Amino acid sequence: MKPLKGIFILLDGMWVVFKHLFRRPVTLEYPEKKREPNESFRGKPVVKGCIGCGICKSVCPSNAISFSKDENEAVTSYCFDLKKCIFCGNCMYYCPYGAIKMTKSYELASENKSDLQLNYKGGADD
Ligand code: SF4
Ligand code: SF4
Repeated sequence: MKPLKGIFILLDGMWVVFKHLFRRPVTLEYPEKKREPNESFRGKPVVKGCIGCGICKSVCPSNAISFSKDENEAVTSYCFDLKKCIFCGNCMYYCPYGAIKMTKSYELASENKSDLQLNYKGGADD
């Protein structure tokens, strides 16, 4: 009885493999082929036209935002720390000036820590 059961299990497994031979694969051959993220995807954050009100900083749950101002209160530099950012989008949603955008760029991994500091000059995109 036992050898017969083994054959049935084997056939069952082969049937599963056979069925999948004719199905469209759900994976892509990344990085040669890439999937376009959907409209609501939140990737690399960029900033342009920041006036330094500080709202983004106060709503960021992971303290990933820092910026500095000169004596005239003009923003001189703005930084997203991707080591901390969780891509929640709060900064973008709460900025009253629409200065922050979350792009569809997602290939952000790096072996160099400094690459994960996104620095923008003068509150504007580099
Ligand atoms: S990015 Fe927007 S919310 Fe953040 S400091 Fe600049 S203007 Fe204010
Ligand atoms: S996306 Fe979220 S975690 Fe990242 S900087 Fe903006 S508020 Fe902070």
